[in-house]
Amino acid sequence: AGVSRSVAVVAAYLMKTQGLGWEQALAAVAAAKPDAQVNPGFQRQLRLYEAMGCAVDTGSVFYKRYRLEMLSERFSEPQDLPREVFAVDPTTVCQTVNTEVLYRCRKCRRALFRSSSILSHTEGIGPTAFAHKRITDSARLAGNGQEKCTSYFIEPVQWMEPALLGVMEGQLLCPKCTSKLGSFSWRGDQCSCGRWVTPAFQIHKSRVDEVRTLPVGNFQTAKT
Ligand SMILES: [Zn+2]
Ligand SMILES: [Zn+2]
Repeated sequence: AGVSRSVAVVAAYLMKTQGLGWEQALAAVAAAKPDAQVNPGFQRQLRLYEAMGCAVDTGSVFYKRYRLEMLSERFSEPQDLPREVFAVDPTTVCQTVNTEVLYRCRKCRRALFRSSSILSHTEGIGPTAFAHKRITDSARLAGNGQEKCTSYFIEPVQWMEPALLGVMEGQLLCPKCTSKLGSFSWRGDQCSCGRWVTPAFQIHKSRVDEVRTLPVGNFQTAKT
């Protein structure tokens, strides 16, 4: 494992400094050190690293999806989820990024999640399309994919925590009016576009409304 890790570190260094792809970087290490081997876990991390543009960005969709996939593999019955996998409940934050879209319960208007929590997927092209695309590609595809997918697949948000503990799958209800919003499954679920998402936290688009957050300045002007 130590050998594998050090090879991965050198490969990551080559990716960052020489602009190599993860496969090229591993080939370069292997050329210099023929017995160098990297286990599949480290290969996956290198692929993630490349997808994030050779910088560790914990806010990146790739990073969030990777972290959730890792969790879903580790836990057969998640009892104790790390706090950091939950996105901050949008009702507890007063300062928001202006460009972000807020999603509210259609019935009671309770703020549920932000656009930054949406883990976009490419439409129905197989189970392991994770991290093969550069961020720009994925953003473009997400924009085009809005019609075919009838659900938003998002990261877990704090209000979901009681529903998630100790169970592999279940319903996601609005924390305020308890109307059904969607469902979750650590084993994954299929989107209407055909794509499997693992784990899946899906909110039906018909149950929420998009709200564009007003720039703070405008909001204050409107109030006074
Ligand atoms: Zn879809
Ligand atoms: Zn509600």
